[in-house]
Amino acid sequence: MSAKTIVVLGGGSGGIVCANELRKKLGGEHRIILIDKDEEHTFYPSLLWLIFGLRKPEQIKRSLRALTKKGIEFIQGEVTEISTEKKSISLNRQNINYDELIISLGAELNTKAFPKTPKIFNFYCLEGAKLSGEAINNFSNGKIVIFIGGMPFKCPAAPYEFAFLIDSFFKNRNIRGRISIEIYTPETLPMPTAGPQIGNMLKQMLESRQINFNPEYKFKSVDEGKIYFENNKTADFDLLFVVPPHTAPEVVKKTNLINESGWIPVDRETLKTKFENVYAIGDVTTIKLPGQYKTDKPLNLPKAGVFAHYQAEVVAENIVKEINGQKPDKRYSGNGYCFLELGSHKAGFAKGNFFATPSPSVAIYSSGKIWHLGKIAFEKWWLWKWF
Ligand SMILES: Cc1cc2nc3c(=O)[nH]c(=O)nc-3n(C[C@H](O)[C@H](O)[C@H](O)COP(=O)(O)OP(=O)(O)OC[C@H]3O[C@@H](n4cnc5c(N)ncnc54)[C@H](O)[C@@H]3O)c2cc1C
Repeated sequence: MSAKTIVVLGGGSGGIVCANELRKKLGGEHRIILIDKDEEHTFYPSLLWLIFGLRKPEQIKRSLRALTKKGIEFIQGEVTEISTEKKSISLNRQNINYDELIISLGAELNTKAFPKTPKIFNFYCLEGAKLSGEAINNFSNGKIVIFIGGMPFKCPAAPYEFAFLIDSFFKNRNIRGRISIEIYTPETLPMPTAGPQIGNMLKQMLESRQINFNPEYKFKSVDEGKIYFENNKTADFDLLFVVPPHTAPEVVKKTNLINESGWIPVDRETLKTKFENVYAIGDVTTIKLPGQYKTDKPLNLPKAGVFAHYQAEVVAENIVKEINGQKPDKRYSGNGYCFLELGSHKAGFAKGNFFATPSPSVAIYSSGKIWHLGKIAFEKWWLWKWF
């Protein structure tokens, strides 16, 4: 058996799990190289706590260099080319050949359409989350708008969790009555892939907290105090928190790995792309679900860390089996779960199978402190387990 070089692109949720699992299960003669443009891994679910002063950046970041002590080679650099023909990738003016390639490069946030003003914030990145926190802290009167700039976007629950946390923050300050909170989204219901029952339940939870939910609003443009939508309606704001439109990273868009969706289609159970020895996992993929709801269009698997994590385990195990001459028979089942922060140290929890037919089968559990504690425990485990 010859020594193999396995290259993992991206040190986010999918990439670090995949590199760790490969290293744990493969003999030391095989090289595992992880590449990321950033030196640090950020645990994104904790951004929402960071906004409200419950975390500091250093508490939710880990250096990817720490992986080297486990025998994973880490290279910091921007991948500029992926050649499935030459079986190589390029970065920092060097080429690296691979025997197996795992692409977990996530989604890029397109912030170009949003002017840089003290009223508009991208709370989906670390720097934007810090600034969002400062703005909320200094706000005492007026209209807050949370706006989802396009679909698909990662973590379908996050904008709603953010709305619940804003509501709770101002209630604790006894000034909630002076502040209105509105959500504008191109979705028909919150978290549409989880189904109409959960979507309507979330909508009611928003309404019961006087958070106005405005569905089917598609973005046209924005200026310093107003968003313009395709339906010719507009929305004023004093503070605007944006989920910027997502695309695949530039380097992926240049390849012939993507399809008309702009993302990488993969076999939903093996995560194989159309090229030999090339896998893609996590947010950079597009995965059609076998089921759908009665009146809806075909559904895609949402973008979330939990899916990237499970998919990474499947890919790692199958690569190891193949290298060891065994049948690569591990399959991704479509399972996923999500905590839903509600404020006041409470959270909800949803769990299900997205590959179920005739429609995804997702259950939501009653909210309580236990799920909030569960989310904290998961954060601690994640940052300990992989670094
Ligand atoms: C506010 C917020 C809350 C969230 N909460 C949850 C949650 O509670 N549960 C959940 O499941 N998910 C949550 N998510 C979503 C989750 O973070 C993502 O779905 C997950 O990180 C996707 O993993 P990934 O490996 O596909 O991509 P990522 O984790 O985004 O990793 C991609 C990596 O690729 C690197 N990269 C990109 N392009 C290049 C390049 N050209 N060269 C080199 N490196 C490159 C990036 O630097 C990055 O490190 C949340 C996201 C946000 C923003």
